[in-house]
Amino acid sequence: MMWPAWLPLRSDLKPLSPYGAPQLPAQASLNTNENPYAPSIALQQAITAAVAEASSSLNRYPDRDAIEVRTALASYINEENRTQFTINNIWAANGSNEIIQSLFLAFGASSALGFTPSYSMHPLISKVSDTQWIDGKRNHDFSFNIDFAIHDVALNKPNLTFITTPNNPTGEAVALREIEALAVVVGENGGLLVVDEAYAEFSSERSAVNLIEQYPHVVVIRTMSKAFAFAGVRVGYLIANPAVINAMLLVRLPYHLSALTQAAANVALDFRVESLGNVAELISAREDLVASLHALGLRTLPSAANFILFTGFEASSAQLWTQLLEKGVLIRDVGLSSYLRVTVGNDAENKAFIEALSELL
Ligand SMILES: *Cc1c(COP(=O)(O)O)cnc(C)c1O
Repeated sequence: MMWPAWLPLRSDLKPLSPYGAPQLPAQASLNTNENPYAPSIALQQAITAAVAEASSSLNRYPDRDAIEVRTALASYINEENRTQFTINNIWAANGSNEIIQSLFLAFGASSALGFTPSYSMHPLISKVSDTQWIDGKRNHDFSFNIDFAIHDVALNKPNLTFITTPNNPTGEAVALREIEALAVVVGENGGLLVVDEAYAEFSSERSAVNLIEQYPHVVVIRTMSKAFAFAGVRVGYLIANPAVINAMLLVRLPYHLSALTQAAANVALDFRVESLGNVAELISAREDLVASLHALGLRTLPSAANFILFTGFEASSAQLWTQLLEKGVLIRDVGLSSYLRVTVGNDAENKAFIEALSELL
């Protein structure tokens, strides 16, 4: 991007590119790890009614502390784990991306570390918030290596260490005991360990929320965008020690979570059994998709999420991505040469993807 000379843009921002997963019309949209299942009619009606009720007082600011949403999120996490979190352990914002940004605003000071390849927004938000980003090391097959990770933390002493589990774009879940080993060394070096669990509901690994009581510097990020099938509403949340939540209050913008967002989120949390009802189906579709990819002679990385990173095709990633799009199937080129990532869709979408792929290989 060439910026005009008169624009007083921060010089450290000039070389950056905005986040830009293509939003293109396609028969099968399998590129941003969305849940393919739309809200049921009953859920749509309940949301509409709640939004209608909230709209009668839209002249007023919303609940600044989103008490009802955070209370419901605490009970969801407690149901899923053997924890006893209260509202004082939960923060909610407009997507987990806003949570990540708030963590940088509060704690970004010196440097942040993450294990590449992982979620591209961690380094981007780091740079935008003027925190030095350090790319930590993984194994050559992209699997997480706890010894490398411990070494990177001890060497760099970052304020924030990010680990994504299951990892995006590779799909690998990291065992809780390895996260605990990392938590120990992060604690010794005076930082926070940020565990991004955007895809936790698709994994059978225990959640890092179980570490928070013993390790107050462990913070866990979750989202309603993926398993909850609620990406359009923008609700992400943080589970952490109350001291971390108090720091979020310092950096948040007043009334950041709109009354309409809060109304919709409360309904979706009430309907959580239903909203999460398709998770098992997506896990089984993931296993079918892996088998189909293998049958086509492709290789996949083990995935505990709702997407699969695959390789073993002859064309370049960019070529195959374009050819699939021409056949109406939009997947994701994550910038790893000779790999592509596909989101698990509904039956028709998965079938369209496999059919298009088998014609191209
Ligand atoms: C999709 C994703 C998010 C989600 O972001 P929202 O802002 O909550 O939609 C966060 N972290 C990772 C690793 C993701 O893949």
